[in-house]
Amino acid sequence: MNTDAPLRILFVEDVPADAELAVRMLRKEGLSFTSIRVESRPAFLKALAEYQPALVISDYSMPQFDGMCALHLALQHDANLPFIILTGSINEETAVDCIKAGAWDYVLKERMTRLPFAVNGALERKRNRIAQAEAEMTLHLQSIALQAAANAIVITNQDGMIEWINPAFSTLTGYSLAEASGKNPSELLSSGRHDIAFYQSLWDTILAGRIWRGELINRRKDGSLYPEEQTITPVYDKQGQIQHFVAIKQDISERKIAEAQIHRLAYYDALTGLPNQRLFLDRLNQSSAAARRSGYWGAVLLVDLDQFKRVNDARGHEIGDLLIKQVGERISNDLRDEDTVARQGGDEFAVLLVNLATTHPTAIRRASRLAEKIRATLDKPFRIGAADYHISASIGVTIFPKAVAESVDDLLREADTALYRAKEAGRNSVSYFEPAMQEAVQARFALEHDLRQALARGEMRLFLQPQVDHQGRWIGAEALVRWERPGHGLVPPALFIPVAEESGIIVTLGRWVLEEACRLLKQLDAAGHRLRVAVNVSPRQFRQPDFSACVREVLDYSGADSNHLVLEVTEGLVIENIHDTVAKMMELNCLGIEFSIDDFGTGYSSLAYLKQLPLHELKIDRTFVQDAPTDPNDAALVEAILAVARHLKLSVVAEGVETETQLDFLKRRGCEIFQGYYFDRPLPWPQFEEKARLQMGD
Ligand code: C2E
Ligand code: MG
Ligand code: MG
Repeated sequence: MNTDAPLRILFVEDVPADAELAVRMLRKEGLSFTSIRVESRPAFLKALAEYQPALVISDYSMPQFDGMCALHLALQHDANLPFIILTGSINEETAVDCIKAGAWDYVLKERMTRLPFAVNGALERKRNRIAQAEAEMTLHLQSIALQAAANAIVITNQDGMIEWINPAFSTLTGYSLAEASGKNPSELLSSGRHDIAFYQSLWDTILAGRIWRGELINRRKDGSLYPEEQTITPVYDKQGQIQHFVAIKQDISERKIAEAQIHRLAYYDALTGLPNQRLFLDRLNQSSAAARRSGYWGAVLLVDLDQFKRVNDARGHEIGDLLIKQVGERISNDLRDEDTVARQGGDEFAVLLVNLATTHPTAIRRASRLAEKIRATLDKPFRIGAADYHISASIGVTIFPKAVAESVDDLLREADTALYRAKEAGRNSVSYFEPAMQEAVQARFALEHDLRQALARGEMRLFLQPQVDHQGRWIGAEALVRWERPGHGLVPPALFIPVAEESGIIVTLGRWVLEEACRLLKQLDAAGHRLRVAVNVSPRQFRQPDFSACVREVLDYSGADSNHLVLEVTEGLVIENIHDTVAKMMELNCLGIEFSIDDFGTGYSSLAYLKQLPLHELKIDRTFVQDAPTDPNDAALVEAILAVARHLKLSVVAEGVETETQLDFLKRRGCEIFQGYYFDRPLPWPQFEEKARLQMGD
């Protein structure tokens, strides 16, 4: 409304003096306006149309016209046109009729002073009506906008309970307003993909009066999940209290799919679906940093196919592509989930091995084992259609981290240098970057090769190391294997037991040790020495499905007394697959065999599992025994082990006792069985037997 234009008043009045009086009255009250006067119906209609009054002041009864009629015409013209009756005489009933018919007010001519109030009041009401109509229109428009919005909109109360949703919300989630109202959106839509902390931080933000924006995964009524982007805005009341929250949600499934596709294109090889060079470098970067922190070694392998170009040229790219795909699959199958196989392009693949081991030699062994496995698997024919293709691969290996920090490029260069050597060496082979590594691997292969023959060639020896009580009397012995390897002298078990474990040779070697130990046990018994013999059992050996049967067989065959046989197992064995372990131990325990936990304290000792096992004894590792008298930490550990053993009613063997001080220390703390150089070294059978005889003589 234009407030600058002067107000136009239309008088309907047959007496000009009355109209003039009214004009003066209004002017006196400071109202600024223009006016005209009419007194007939046609003049009134013309004035309505042409003069466009903002207000009509009309007499009630006139000779040519009447006020009620004017009122009807005015309202027909504009339903919101203020209309005031100004009359000399009107009874109350008529006045009420006028108001009912739509007049805004009425004023008696003898009380003309009220006219300015009536006019101001009418104008004010008119302004309010316009404002209200505008507000209603705005609300109406907004409501249509909310209804029609493509984004899902939820309005909740301050407790987060849904009060209103728009149709897009129902389309997105499957919930109708009736189903949703009164519920908490996060309960209604929770996918379980976000933890409590996520929702906590969302609530912290909006309760602090800030807008929360983020992405989340929600669940539809039909159970399906979808990603959405959400903005939640707190809405305040006049007192500044949060009264509502308005959440606007957008389904971003398509965007996510597009993003995933872009990611796939950027980081994966289209042919094989394997990571590409870029992703490989990323992972290598992370892994080499992680290796430095964790102390775990990793390795990089570059695998290059030997005959690929020939196949590709002779058979065409289609066959070449199929072959590459199969190669990728074969390599992947040979690896653990945490490792990465990537296609470097062409016929070259890169492999990242992580968390191999914490010691360099073991890491080299494991890396070479896996490299060898890949070489062997690619050496087998590939079947495409009806034809078999034979290709092989050369592999270059380097391991990390190095003493001097290396970049990923350095590592790849090293692996590439090694690969070059493998090609030079005649292909279908594995080469290592560092000469020392190459030698170590070769030495290891030679060792494994010789070890396979060692048993058959009769090169294994079983030594016995006495175990004594607190008075130094022999109560038994631990059987310890040695290898008389031609050209290498007597090889200690630490050098070949791990190789035997990894290669599986331990199964036959372990059986031989058991047989030999039982044979000696029988001989001791026969000579009247009531000594027990402890045999070390490696995890792989123990896990053989027929391990119990094998022990029973050896006992039967040898005729040894099972009550004098002790099996030493390690903590690690027990922790993995505790159910099977317990069952097997129970079975053997029933035969009279006792169990001892070797190297106790070096693994993850936990009372919880110890309690479940049919155990007889703990062996304190010699590293603790060695330093216990001087190192308070080791002393505390030894004391703790003795306390645990007392609690579980287990006996304790202290191994590696080398000095009187160590012995005294242990004795004073209640340890009762000892083993170590202080008494005897592990002895070959003839020496052991002779000493046993001397002991008997004592
Ligand atoms: P282990 O079972 O903890 O054996 C104790 C090791 O401590 C033996 O080493 C023993 O010679 C050594 N030792 C004993 N007293 C002393 C001492 O006073 N001072 C020092 N410094 N060392 C002492 P060995 O014979 O070299 O065996 C090493 C490990 O090889 C054994 O540790 C055991 O885990 C494994 N092992 C030995 N024989 C066998 C076997 O027949 N089968 C399996 N699976 N493992 C075996
Ligand atoms: Mg042992
Ligand atoms: Mg030990």
